[in-house]
Amino acid sequence: MSETIKSTLQNPLDKYPKPPFNKQPQQVPGLASKMDPQPDHGETSYKGSGRLAGRKALITGGDSGIGRAAAIAYAREGADVVINYLPDEQSDADEVIALIEAEGRKGFGIPGDITQEAFCGELVEQAVQKLGGLDILVNNAGHQQAVDSLLELTSQGFDTTIKTNIYAPFWITKAALPHLLAGSVIIATSSVQAYDPSENLFDYAQTKAANVAFVKSLAKQLGPKGIRVNGVAPGPVWTPLQVSGGQPQDKITEFGEATPLGRPGQPAELASIYVQLADDSASFATGQIYGAAGGNGHP
Ligand code: NAD
Ligand code: MG
Repeated sequence: MSETIKSTLQNPLDKYPKPPFNKQPQQVPGLASKMDPQPDHGETSYKGSGRLAGRKALITGGDSGIGRAAAIAYAREGADVVINYLPDEQSDADEVIALIEAEGRKGFGIPGDITQEAFCGELVEQAVQKLGGLDILVNNAGHQQAVDSLLELTSQGFDTTIKTNIYAPFWITKAALPHLLAGSVIIATSSVQAYDPSENLFDYAQTKAANVAFVKSLAKQLGPKGIRVNGVAPGPVWTPLQVSGGQPQDKITEFGEATPLGRPGQPAELASIYVQLADDSASFATGQIYGAAGGNGHP
């Protein structure tokens, strides 16, 4: 007699909190620890199976949100992980490093501002030194501030969005490239905003479209070197980026409601995509964008 296998079917509609949410303004960059409800980054749920054993990953924005979920999953799959974040996010970062180390993996935090070209170079060199190499680069950090009118969008605001979301991945990837051997991967976090831009995310949406072009172009350039380049295009996900000005507070209360699943995604729900794209088993996937948007948007 075969043992009865307990069904683990779970309805995605009831799996996580739904709107309405409380207004909860935070200063940029925001802390996951101050969010209500607390986001799920897979702290208690992600189970690894050795898919990334011995791999060496650098994840920008790895302290919170989608980057934290990727960091936890990578460590549980057997990778050593460096995370980058802003100095104000040290408390979030400390939690992630503790979770990585709890898996018996090496976890390092390298705080610093990636809108500075010199720091981007130092970040990569330090990461390579700490990890003894690098074969997974996740350009995930991002800056998003909703502005209703083009007339209110300042050059400084525009510049910070472009520097964080376009220049930093360029600088970091350029610094990393000499270290990436065949079999390495680069992963970008784009957005549904690349394909279906909101009226109040004029600058941000353009950068996320640029991230798609980054992936498509670089995949062609690096394919012959055996380096794969892919991207992830999330829909609304419950992270500090959104509550710290990524959305106006009156949109936070209904955040995610417009998706067919009727709720925002949680970072944990995207982690397996970052694992899949890094895993050698996905060796024919390059130049692709993987969506996770709860039913709306593209791709
Ligand atoms: P998040 O706030 O948890 O992560 C963003 C991270 O970017 C921060 O933790 C911070 O460490 C980092 N960052 C920002 N400016 C920086 C700078 N100057 N120097 C160094 N680090 C800096 O939010 P998230 O939503 O997980 O964001 C991760 C990525 O996901 C971003 O690229 C964002 O555009 C993208 N994204 C988010 C959503 C969403 O709904 N949350 C949807 C689509 C795409
Ligand atoms: Mg953060």
